[in-house]
Amino acid sequence: MSLTSRILLAMGAGILTGSLLNVLLHGVGLPAALNSVLDTYLVGGLFDVVGRIFVASLKLLVVPLVLVSLVCGSSSLGDSARIGPIAGKTMLFYLATTAIAVSVALAFAVLVGPGTGVNLVGNASYVAAEAPPLSDVLVNIFPTNPVQAMAEGKMLQIIVFALLLGYAISHAGEPGRRIAGFFRDMEAVVMKMVDILMHLAPYGVFALLAKLFATMGIGAILDLATYFFTVLAVLLFHVLVTYSLLLRGLTGLSPRILLSKMRPVWAFAFSTASSGATLPITLRTVERRLGVHNTVAGFTVPLGATINMDGTAIMQGVATVFIAQVYGMDLSMGAYITVVITATLASIGTAAVPGVGLITLAMVLGQVGIPVEGIALIIGVDRLLDMVRTAVNVTGDSVGSVIVARSEKQLDEAVFLDESADQDADDDGRHGVPVTPPTA
Ligand code: ASP
Repeated sequence: MSLTSRILLAMGAGILTGSLLNVLLHGVGLPAALNSVLDTYLVGGLFDVVGRIFVASLKLLVVPLVLVSLVCGSSSLGDSARIGPIAGKTMLFYLATTAIAVSVALAFAVLVGPGTGVNLVGNASYVAAEAPPLSDVLVNIFPTNPVQAMAEGKMLQIIVFALLLGYAISHAGEPGRRIAGFFRDMEAVVMKMVDILMHLAPYGVFALLAKLFATMGIGAILDLATYFFTVLAVLLFHVLVTYSLLLRGLTGLSPRILLSKMRPVWAFAFSTASSGATLPITLRTVERRLGVHNTVAGFTVPLGATINMDGTAIMQGVATVFIAQVYGMDLSMGAYITVVITATLASIGTAAVPGVGLITLAMVLGQVGIPVEGIALIIGVDRLLDMVRTAVNVTGDSVGSVIVARSEKQLDEAVFLDESADQDADDDGRHGVPVTPPTA
């Protein structure tokens, strides 16, 4: 069985096992002793530990991978001075798709009216976190100490440092060439670590999902069914319509091929609910299965994981309309435009970890004068939506990378079109390279 199938199977088995345990633990009144053994040792013990170790090992690879792959990418761009256009197109794609995402979300939500007739206001209590001033946000992109930036996992700071280092390497003559060789070797080694981890992924994905579904109260979805399914519908629309049209229109490539290659990445995004933790897998897929050259992918994927969150923006658009309707507030055209702008900015400021989209939603609500406590109304179903929107977030990064790479002639179309490219990294580390039988 291929690795992708095993990961997807583990995902299904995890959800099934977790849901079954949920019923056993909370529904059927098992003997107390058995209940506590299952709860403490299986769900809170084995599944919890395996899942957390899995996420920790994914995160472990993020900083080394972003650094080496961005240094490799920017140093091989060298004198061609393409980094400006690549950065410009990437930012344009990320911002434009996010703005489209919020606009579609607002339109759907206004049409469906998920909050009309819902009376939940009494339940709301939520204290919003203070957002930092914009000037600080800008200054904080520039690191004072690269080691500290890496220790704290500050992605934008690492990107700035890596770009500078790569640029300097390409302009430093012979010493630069030696260092560039070192980084290329390092990249191969770190990618190998990603491969090793992917082989363990079925266990990690299973444990994460089994634990989550065993403890999650699915009942909350019933109260918020219209909100929940509106968000889900817009997320689906964004992937199947917006991304597919953009990919087809701007590159002529088949969205079906791209989406089918994204399946393992979705499994990681869904089970971790973190674009950051999924980054190693996104990068590996974009480079090796979609054929985006490292010069582009090394920049677009880490940047996308950090600032491009269309799925999050969609949730924020629908949530704003939902909460306004629950509070019986009418939003003006000006308010909708404000929501598009602030949700686009909020998605940039949303950290690539679980649940942060809900925190930055406070900023959006605040801008249009909707009570921030309204966030409490949707917390119950947010985790499940977070898993799906994270999968959309990483899809946006991948589609953007392919489009930018294609426009920069940095896309290997043969790899993109080859449906089995690097399907499974084989154990001797060859990727997408046919294994030739030894000759006698
Ligand atoms: N979990 C999302 C991500 O990592 C962010 C969010 O919407 O909370 O992409």
